[in-house]
Amino acid sequence: MSGARRVEACRSCGDRRLTEILSLGWMPVANALVPFEDADRPDPVFPLGIQLCPRCALVQIIHELPAEAIFGDDYPYFSSYSDSFVRHAASHAQDLLRRRALRDDAFVVEVGSNDGYLLRPLAEAGVPVLGIDPAPGPVQAAVTAGVPSLQAFFGHEVACRVRAECGPADVVIANNVMAHVPDVNNVVAGIAELLAPDGVVTVENPWIKDLVERLEFDTIYHEHYCYLSCLAVSTLFERHGLYLNDVEYFPDLHGGSLRWWFSRSLAATDAVARALDIEHRLGVGTPDFYAGFADEVEQIGAALVDLLCALRASGRRVAGYGGAAKATTLMNAAGIDNSLVEFVVDRNAAKWGRLIPGCRVPVRPPEALLEEQPDYTLLLVWNIAREVLGQQGEYQRRGGRFIVPVGEMSRRATVLEPSTRPAQ
Ligand SMILES: [Zn+2]
Repeated sequence: MSGARRVEACRSCGDRRLTEILSLGWMPVANALVPFEDADRPDPVFPLGIQLCPRCALVQIIHELPAEAIFGDDYPYFSSYSDSFVRHAASHAQDLLRRRALRDDAFVVEVGSNDGYLLRPLAEAGVPVLGIDPAPGPVQAAVTAGVPSLQAFFGHEVACRVRAECGPADVVIANNVMAHVPDVNNVVAGIAELLAPDGVVTVENPWIKDLVERLEFDTIYHEHYCYLSCLAVSTLFERHGLYLNDVEYFPDLHGGSLRWWFSRSLAATDAVARALDIEHRLGVGTPDFYAGFADEVEQIGAALVDLLCALRASGRRVAGYGGAAKATTLMNAAGIDNSLVEFVVDRNAAKWGRLIPGCRVPVRPPEALLEEQPDYTLLLVWNIAREVLGQQGEYQRRGGRFIVPVGEMSRRATVLEPSTRPAQ
């Protein structure tokens, strides 16, 4: 695998005065789960940290890996493995159908379409759609599910090709994709190229404000090149002639997400003014907002390890739930290995029998929680806490407890009693 490259200039505006916010040390590629047969081979590791561009407010990775190193043939992320994400997407699709009165003469393109879970309800409603995604496994799954999909890294060139073949798009959707692309200007230029004159763009992404305030440091990994705010994203899209018209807030989605609506119109809702005002008042575009973040991240990791060590010392067994990328960051940054967490369960069969990179904790099917009945389970996918707690009723009835490491539920590791639900 080729090496990491230090990012010297802002990937949005090109400014070179980048300020470091947080360094997490050397980390493996978060989604590069290790097959058992390769257990003896050391993981390639790269520096992981984030920095702020004080000029355009974009928070971004300090060292980048080539996209090909991240989205390989084994890329294991299938969105449909979370019921709550599928429900959220269905609601977005219904909202688009209603707001835009989409019919069979419309054209909807989704960038980063994964396994087609968002476009599927639109396709079923008779709206022509096209998904574009670089990962072959999810693209094949989308096509099988009846969602026309193109396997490609989206950018200006692909946008020109799609427009020439299919015409301009009435709606372009880019959910949880802006963070994943190395060349953000190329992608937004592509969106602008593809969009019909009166078309709209919807973009969803976790909000950097919540990431910092809720200490969601485990959502930082090499695959996430950018961490977005209203300030950063409106500056980026304006550069390509697209203006922020509306913003919606989803406090429970991926640890706190925003959905931005862009078009060529300058009209903006009150929600846009309010969100920008919040970011200005907090100083989200200045280093002040991030002062203390690195210290708090270190403390939260140390508190979690203290808790796990105490549990293990008293003979308790501990497992984890969710072999997601954030598990790699959390466990490796905190120094949690298989002496503290025996195994991690995940609903995605493609991950079973593999090891979380770095910490080398094995991934097993969710049934392992009832087979082994560990005393405690570290809820690594705290972003879908409600869903997991709902599914794991029997484990909790038998006395199993969940530990929530980060997120809005606690600024320190919290053990949940079986009857409690996240206070959201
Ligand atoms: Zn910048």
